[in-house]
Order: sequence, then C-alpha cells, then structure tokens
Amino acid sequence: MGKVIAITNQKGGVGKTTTSVNLCAALAYMKKKVLLIDVDPQANATQGIGVNRGALERSTYDVLIDQIPIEDVIIPTNVPNLDIAPASIDLAGVEVQLSTVTHGREQRLKDALRNARENYEYIIIDCPPALGLLNTNALTAANSVLIPVQCEYYALEGLTQLLNTILLTQSVFNKDLTIEGVLLTMLDNRTNLGVEVTQEVRKYFKEKVYDTVIPRNIKLSEAPSEGLDIFDYDPRSGGAKAYNQLAKEVVKRNA
Ligand code: ADP
Ligand code: MG
Repeated sequence: MGKVIAITNQKGGVGKTTTSVNLCAALAYMKKKVLLIDVDPQANATQGIGVNRGALERSTYDVLIDQIPIEDVIIPTNVPNLDIAPASIDLAGVEVQLSTVTHGREQRLKDALRNARENYEYIIIDCPPALGLLNTNALTAANSVLIPVQCEYYALEGLTQLLNTILLTQSVFNKDLTIEGVLLTMLDNRTNLGVEVTQEVRKYFKEKVYDTVIPRNIKLSEAPSEGLDIFDYDPRSGGAKAYNQLAKEVVKRNA
C-alpha cells in the first residue's frame, strides 16, 4: 500500500507545488512508483509536469464530484514511474457544489484512492492555498502531511491555524494522520534572515524539520514554464541537488 503524503500550507507561494512536482520526480528517478494528485484549481503541478490542462478529458474534479475511481483520471507523465491525476480549473467550483452534500463529502478522495493505492509506493497530493473542502479531502485521504515553510519574516505565522486544522481532521476524519515533515524552502544564503528563520522553525518543530533546506534557485522557478521537473531541466542545479537529497530523507523516514 502506497504512502499518501499531502503537501499542504494554506499560504500561497511557499513552494507546495514546486515541492510536489520535484519530490515526485526525484522519487520516480529513484525507481519508486509514484502518483502525483493535483487538487489545486490553479493546476500548477499539472502544467508544471508538462500536461496541458486544457486538453484533459477528466480530472480530479470528476473524482470529487462524480465519484469516479481515481484510476479513470490517471495518466502517465514524461517521467518514467510517475503518473498524475491532473487538476482542472473547474475544481474551483467543488466547494460550492458540495456545500449541500451532508454525508461523506470529506472522504471522497480517500474512497476514490482505495484501489489505486496498491499500485504506487508514494502518492503525493498538491494542495490548494486554502483550508477548505479540497484541503480537507487531501488531509482525510493522507497518511501524513509535509509542510513547506518559506524562509521569510512571519514564516511561522498561519502555522497555528494549519496545525489546528490538522488536529481537527485527526479528531473527526483521520485519527492516524501524522506530520511527515517540515521543509524549509527558498532559503537565500546571502541574508542573515534565512539563518534566523531556520533556527526559529527548528526550535518549534524540532526533529520534524528536514536536514535538507531548499535554496532559492532560479532554475526551480524556470523549469515549470518548460513543463519539466528540475532533473530534466537542469540536473546540476542547486535545486536538483536539494530535491534529490529531500527524496532520500523521505525514503529514509519511511524505511
Ligand atoms: P505554492 O504551490 O505554495 O503556491 P509554488 O511552488 O508555486 O508555491 O512557488 C511559488 C513561486 O515561487 C513559483 O513561481 C515557483 O516557481 C517559485 N519557487 C518555488 N520554490 C522556489 C525556489 N526554491 N527557488 C526559487 N523559486 C522558487
Ligand atoms: Mg501551488
């Protein structure tokens, strides 16, 4: 049974999608069977891995609304061992469309994943930047959450709210949900701020924080526009090295 990891933080722009795509790719290049699930209406992970969201027949929208099994929307990517359940823009309507459903609307992704879980070693969910029903579906389907934290002022701001959401999901829908890890992202080595934030986050989350810190690296921001992961775009970049190191840590924690 595959390990399901939700990459979540209700703040936008902290590196959720960059981490989802490149962690998936790194694991896939390590010969793990990997599934990337995109539940963000912006579909950045879908496009970033080279899938044209406009040309899709089906997406995670159909999984959440029509309750079709996730196998029916999964397509291969150009990366060997990596499949994707792509997102589409109509996901933005899920919140409203499910507002009148009173039973089981938080479990739809979990239910849809039941059979597909057998086919993968890692299943990574890229979450939207909001604590709504899409995020709850991801947290209910997941075994654990990986929280990217951007190295900036107020890095810890908003995390109390996220941790409360995790606790709430644990108590109501998913008692076994754990914190997979906390990942520091976009570290600028030229400033002292990065060092301060790193220390602050480590003091708070202790051994949950990965040793790997993702540096600010221009190649990581360029790769999605080519529809490529960082290993295909520039395997020698600092970004590629960091995400490869992260993948090794993730595998080690799950050994
Ligand atoms: P989120 O999914 O949390 O909104 P993204 O992964 O989309 O965040 O990242 C936000 C922006 O920052 C994107 O333009 C992305 O390309 C860029 N970015 C993410 N991580 C890095 C990094 N380590 N170095 C440079 N740019 C980054
Ligand atoms: Mg994103």
